Amino acid sequence: MKILVVNAGSSSLKYQLFDMDTGSVLAKGNCERIGIDGMITHKCPGREDFHATPAFPDHRAAIGYVLGLLTDPERGVIADVGEIAAVGHRFAHGGEKLKASTVLGEKEIAYLESIVGINPLHGPPAISGLKACREVMPDIPHVGVFDTSYYSGLEEYAYLYPIPYELYEKYRVRKYGFHGTSHRYVAGRAAELLGNPGAKIITCHLGNGSSITATVNGRAVDTSMGFTPQDGVPMGTRSGAVDPTVVTYLMKEEHLTAEETEKLLNSKSGLLGISGVSSDCRDIREAAAAGNRRAQLAMKMLVQSVKKIIGSFYAVMDGADALVFTAGIGENDRELRSEVCSGLSALGIEIDETVNATCPRGAVAELTRKGARVRTFVIPTNEEYMIALDTQSLSKSK
Ligand code: AMP
Repeated sequence: MKILVVNAGSSSLKYQLFDMDTGSVLAKGNCERIGIDGMITHKCPGREDFHATPAFPDHRAAIGYVLGLLTDPERGVIADVGEIAAVGHRFAHGGEKLKASTVLGEKEIAYLESIVGINPLHGPPAISGLKACREVMPDIPHVGVFDTSYYSGLEEYAYLYPIPYELYEKYRVRKYGFHGTSHRYVAGRAAELLGNPGAKIITCHLGNGSSITATVNGRAVDTSMGFTPQDGVPMGTRSGAVDPTVVTYLMKEEHLTAEETEKLLNSKSGLLGISGVSSDCRDIREAAAAGNRRAQLAMKMLVQSVKKIIGSFYAVMDGADALVFTAGIGENDRELRSEVCSGLSALGIEIDETVNATCPRGAVAELTRKGARVRTFVIPTNEEYMIALDTQSLSKSK
């Protein structure tokens, strides 16, 4: 069975074609500058990458071009579009109603359109991408996989904010959580490695966007992101959690509109805002190593914040069986893993520094020091494969 996974952004459309019989990726790529001019990078294992600049006036044009490439007699990997059994679509937000991956029909699309107010950045392009794919491939299931759905089982006391309850009822202002597909994947892998489906697991997805999730028995019980992906630890350009009064105070003092304030907290804060160097952890590390005090400070703030959330989730779960690092920083930044884990021996978290410093990139590694109570892993995330798996199981059951 072949499954196409699509992740549509405002001017981009990423795709991967999976052969689910072998679990392998047949082709993947990224259409960029949609609605501007158009650019595509297309990769197939064992072949040279393909680059082109076709016109992409909209998502429909982009997906049409991708299907042409996938079936191209020379570059293609399938003979006919009919070989694609289903399409899995990544959605950041499924609101309160789409609590699990779902085959998307008119009713679900209408619901997704009704919640763009709480998902203004990701919602509209993802819906455009979905509609374009349904037009071009009308006869196969289109499955939505939602970052938020992993958190649909959070207890009310875990997802509500302590503001007047009526505001939750009126605006659905609550914690939704994000990166759920990544946390679900790595927590599932960790539970397999532990041989314990009921395990208590803390997963740290640390990348340009970062979040930490507590999972018990395969279900998320808490997470660091909230109403939006703005909450939690400091990120590339996002502040993470701040005292809400800081926001209103700055709005007053700097005469900022709501939009300007959101921009400040979303695009100019976090590691970039503190370091003044870059939002990219590699650049910050380089500057820190050269003695840049603010770059050093940014990394210290990230470490402190991650540690605090690990500690709080340990308390929420009454212990932990495993700690997992994933995503760009979590998978690659050995120093950060070492700094986060140092001083956590009281929680049973201790890593073998030699293994941490030498474990190969892009592979699962266990860092646990001999005798430590909590097992610590690096597990490369694979959200696209998780989406493909959900799509496969839902389209089989259709
Ligand atoms: P992601 O959003 O998961 O793609 O992660 C992007 C982040 O991972 C950026 O901050 C990168 O600097 C960081 N990253 C990628 N490779 C490395 C590396 N070798 N060392 C440190 N950080 C890295």
